[in-house]
This record gives sequence, structure tokens and C-alpha cells, in this order.
Amino acid sequence: MTVIKPRLLTAEAEESATPASVALHDVRAAAARIAGRVVRTPLVTSPSLSRLCGQPVHLKLETRQPMGAFKLRGAMNAVLALTEGQRRRGLVTASTGNHGRAVAYAARELGLAATICMSALVPANKVEAIRSLGAEVRIVGRSQDDAQVEVARLVAERGLIQIPPFDDPDVVAGQGTISLELIEDLPKLACVLIPLSGGGLAAGIAVAVKALRPSATIIGISMERGAAMAAAIAAGRPVAVVEEETLADSLGGGIGLSNRVTFALCRDLIDEVVLLSEAEIAAGIRHAALVENEIVEGAGAVGIAALLAGKVNPSGPTVLIVSGRNIDEAAHRRIVSGANA
Ligand SMILES: *Cc1c(COP(=O)(O)O)cnc(C)c1O
Repeated sequence: MTVIKPRLLTAEAEESATPASVALHDVRAAAARIAGRVVRTPLVTSPSLSRLCGQPVHLKLETRQPMGAFKLRGAMNAVLALTEGQRRRGLVTASTGNHGRAVAYAARELGLAATICMSALVPANKVEAIRSLGAEVRIVGRSQDDAQVEVARLVAERGLIQIPPFDDPDVVAGQGTISLELIEDLPKLACVLIPLSGGGLAAGIAVAVKALRPSATIIGISMERGAAMAAAIAAGRPVAVVEEETLADSLGGGIGLSNRVTFALCRDLIDEVVLLSEAEIAAGIRHAALVENEIVEGAGAVGIAALLAGKVNPSGPTVLIVSGRNIDEAAHRRIVSGANA
């Protein structure tokens, strides 16, 4: 177990830690900017979950994005919002998960250079996945913090442009574009269940849903093990949390002690945060595979899991954001065959 340190470590990052917000018009601008460069994902009805809840339940399949997660929306919007001069300097991030892949993919699509910094502990298959997208991989140190220090150095010394995983207005607005599609496809939308980690996804969706459908309920869902945003909302400010292993690995990590965008939006716009056990998340992954016929990673299955566990009882047409599909194949097989965490 390691204590999560703030993600923003450098003097430059501290300087930029002035609060910033996102409004409906930012989300609309993002949608126009990224149109044609991300997939307009399908919203499909789940007969089995609809029966269970006695309400229409729909799955928003962000698993269908290139790279298998919604993260491309935010990364693409942030990159397209850069000036020509900034783009030429090249992109950098320390994420090796869905965000890192999205940045590498966006860079390749737009013909830009991207550098992904990672520690020597990152598994070879992840390194290869990022390299195969054409990104430069820099292996530094033995922790995510070491990788983040290298990002700060490249920003300070070489002028590379950091694309943050969630705490950035353009990233939040990009993730929020999901909500415009939802309201188009399901005008009577009453409840949205959103996987919650750094809060870029939840904040972006909530901004537009609360503006266009004020009576709709926004529910954030995290794992019991190390839910940083839930802890921050409870404490009234960002707090350090202990990172633990979880099946919802894409939901791990802190929100940054000098969080400037997502904390305030999540605190103000999320109606309720629900926490799930590992067994409940496993049941969500299993249901997705066996009943919905979708390969879904732990983070993407938390909406399904919350309904199955009876922890959310929606009233009215409900959407579950199925946020990603990147799960280790062997782990997926083990979970689907019935083994819990
Ligand atoms: C990043 C991620 C999340 C959480 O998004 P935040 O904006 O950090 O809250 C959820 N699901 C998947 C699959 C992700 O990659």
C-alpha cells in the first residue's frame, strides 16, 4: 500500500492551480471540435437490467471508442484546443492507462509527437501498446511519482505540453460531450450512473445534464478501496487516500491536493456517491460479459454492479456509462468463470 501524493508536484503546476470551471457552452464547443474524430457511441437498452429495476435501463457503450475508453474525448478536445505553436512542441503525460493510450492515439491521428513517461515497474505489454501507437516511451524511476517528475522536467526544459488526465477544463468539457449524445438519444433521461475517479467524466457529464435536464439525478460510483473523490467530498476538500489494488483499476489514484476543476464540480453537481465491494464489481463484469455480451473492465462495470447490488434504485429512464473495456484477458476469464476478487 502506498500513500497517494498529489499529482501536481512541480512549481509550474502549483502556479497553475487557480480554480477553473466548465459550462454547457464549453461542452458544446468540445462536441463541435471533436466531431468526426471520436465515435458517437451507441446507447443500447438492457432488457435484463430494465426488468430488475422496473425502469428502462440503457448502456452508453464508451467501450466502442478507439482505444476502448471514453478518455479519447477529453484528450482529443484538449489537443485540438492547443494553438499550432503549442501542438508543434509535442505532448507529454505520465499515464500508462486509458488516458496515456488516448493521448498517444490523438497525437498519431493529428501527426504530433507524444512522450509517455512511465516507471520501470510498468508491465511490458502496456509499454508495447503505447509504443505501437508511435509515442516515445521514457522509462524513469520506479514509481508514478518519478514519472510525473520527468513530465514536469520535460515541460519546464523542453516546453512539451502536458495533457492532464482529468483536472483540466478542456479535458472535462471533452468527457462531457457524452451527455449531449445521451439527451439526443434519450430526451426523458432521469438518472445517470457514472464511474468516478478523478471526476473528469462525472463533472463533464453533470455540467451539461444539470443544465439541460435539471431534475435528472447524477450518481457517482467508486470502489470501496481508495475512493479519492468520495473522501474529498466527505471532507470538504481534496485529501490524500491510500491506494489499494482493485478490480476497478482505472478508478485508482488521487484527485490532486491542489485540484482546480473537478473537485468543486463533483461536490456541487453529483447527487450521491455509491461505493462498491470487489465482489460487487466482479458481479458487474460477469453480468456484462454473460448477459449483455460486452467485455467491460472493472471501472466500466460499476454502474451495472450498483444496480445488481441494489445500491441504486433509479426512478425513470436510466443510463449507465460503460466507460471502458481494457481488462487483462486472463483476469477477465477468471472473473467471468466465477472467481471473485
Ligand atoms: C479514467 C476512467 C474512469 C474515471 O474517469 P475520471 O474522469 O478520472 O473520473 C472510469 N472508467 C474508465 C474506464 C477510465 O479509464
